[in-house]
Amino acid sequence: MFVRIIPLPRRVGAVVLPNDDGTYDVYISSHLDQKQREQKLAHELRHVAGEHFYRDIDVTLAEAEARSGGAETGRRRKKGRKEPRL
Ligand SMILES: [Zn+2]
Repeated sequence: MFVRIIPLPRRVGAVVLPNDDGTYDVYISSHLDQKQREQKLAHELRHVAGEHFYRDIDVTLAEAEARSGGAETGRRRKKGRKEPRL
């Protein structure tokens, strides 16, 4: 897991990208202040912990889950999903 602070488009606070080796890279917007960065990092880590990259759930549900911190039922796995989560 690497976390990098980089300039991102204004509407994007952070993004997490899965690597082929099973690790993740998290990018946090340099436009955010320290507290916002920490909140965004925690949010992105919940995507990782929830295995959102390997479950066939839609983006809206994944975002709701990441915000609540809870895992939903219906753990259909779909390996090889490599879409970024915002
Ligand atoms: Zn998210």
